[in-house]
Amino acid sequence: MSPIALPTLPTPPLSPPSFTSKVTGSALLHHATPQPVATSASSLTFTLQDGTEIIDGVGGAAVACLGAGNTEIVQAMTEQATKLSYCYHQLMGNEPSEQLGKFLCDRSQGAFVSAAFLNSGSEAIEAAIKLCRQYWVEKGQPQRKYIIARFPSYHGNTLGALAVGNIPARRDMYTPLLSTTAFHHVPSPTYLRSHLPDESETSYSARLASELDAKIRELGPENIMAFFAEPVVGAALGVMPPPSGYFPAISKVVRGHDILLVMDEVMSGMGRCGSLFAHQAVAEGIKPDICAIAKGLGAGYVTISGILVGDKVQRVVKQAGQWKSSHTYQNHPINCAVALKVCQIVERDQLLQNVRQRGDQMRAELRDGLKGVQRVFDIRGKGLFTGIELDAPSSLSPRFAARVKEKCFQNGLLILGLSGTIDGKEGEALVIAPAYIISAEQVSQMVSVLVKSIKASVSELE
Ligand code: PLP
Repeated sequence: MSPIALPTLPTPPLSPPSFTSKVTGSALLHHATPQPVATSASSLTFTLQDGTEIIDGVGGAAVACLGAGNTEIVQAMTEQATKLSYCYHQLMGNEPSEQLGKFLCDRSQGAFVSAAFLNSGSEAIEAAIKLCRQYWVEKGQPQRKYIIARFPSYHGNTLGALAVGNIPARRDMYTPLLSTTAFHHVPSPTYLRSHLPDESETSYSARLASELDAKIRELGPENIMAFFAEPVVGAALGVMPPPSGYFPAISKVVRGHDILLVMDEVMSGMGRCGSLFAHQAVAEGIKPDICAIAKGLGAGYVTISGILVGDKVQRVVKQAGQWKSSHTYQNHPINCAVALKVCQIVERDQLLQNVRQRGDQMRAELRDGLKGVQRVFDIRGKGLFTGIELDAPSSLSPRFAARVKEKCFQNGLLILGLSGTIDGKEGEALVIAPAYIISAEQVSQMVSVLVKSIKASVSELE
């Protein structure tokens, strides 16, 4: 195999930002507190309004997998915009969407035969829910109306996606608007936190599978449409690969009851875990019937998501005439042309190999640098998707992960800090998910900022 050709990256000094670049009185709805304002970005580096440079350790939100300012992508975007900027998918097809669908299905090792492209991860989850429903209605089983997912889990912010997922902090206010009867939850795998004494990962996985089996029997298998799961949990658990044996055990139960298996690869897919699809990296040969993708698909250059569909579901939809769901911007030609170029670059430059190597390097260096550091509960991940789970008093304000995140920012590194509930206990985690083009030197640089920032935050608690 020829060596991967990594573009040369500028390595900005990790100088402390001055914070003069925060907007006050912003006209935007989302943020109560002032945010730093980015004015430009190149490769892994953001430049703020005051000229401060920050290295992006998390690709925005595990999105920018090729870094910023990739001229090949910009060229693909411009060319497609010039050639065919838009056509309504109900009236006309377009070449980039066909090519993108074929590219992805061809690399799915037989898992998928067709695709539809949408705009956000949440939309892809809505699409998956509706496709499951249509599948069962067309099969003459309209009584199937339940979806089982996991707790905690995050599958998006629109009302359907919010109902599939279950993170109380994101969901509670909207509960009266969510379907309370259609969506049910079983525990997410959190082996380190919740295994029994002497319970191996495989036995733990078998126990979770039998809990799923019990839930299916309680609801009646004939009433259930699908089981939804992330191959590697992102936002809900701060990057959690499954314990060994999990997907084979779960799949046996799901298949045994003739229920569809849907994998949400919005965050973990498109190369993030070192294979094009996350299930190829962690599901031990198990393939979903439907898979939702987003984030790394457009690499942040366009807002695109998709669902990929296996033969079993595709045949039923085809027989019915069409998929009974549609959006104005579905299969958008510019989005699809850009996503295709992203996928082609990842493949041509053998970036998945870099994802695997740099990810392993990052976790090894983190384990080394954080050895014996209190409050660091676990360092884990797959590919360039790394989580550091923290132990901290839940009364702390600001929360511990938020403190570390702020310190990293002061030291010139952007990461994500998450707080939530794991097995009924308050949990905190840091997420690191840089672009696939990251160099070994940049990984070490990020690790040293992380270690320094975590140690400084820990010593403040002593
Ligand atoms: N599913 C998962 C696993 C996610 O991590 C996210 C977003 O973080 C979504 C769905 C929703 O995607 P979006 O924010 O693009 O709607």
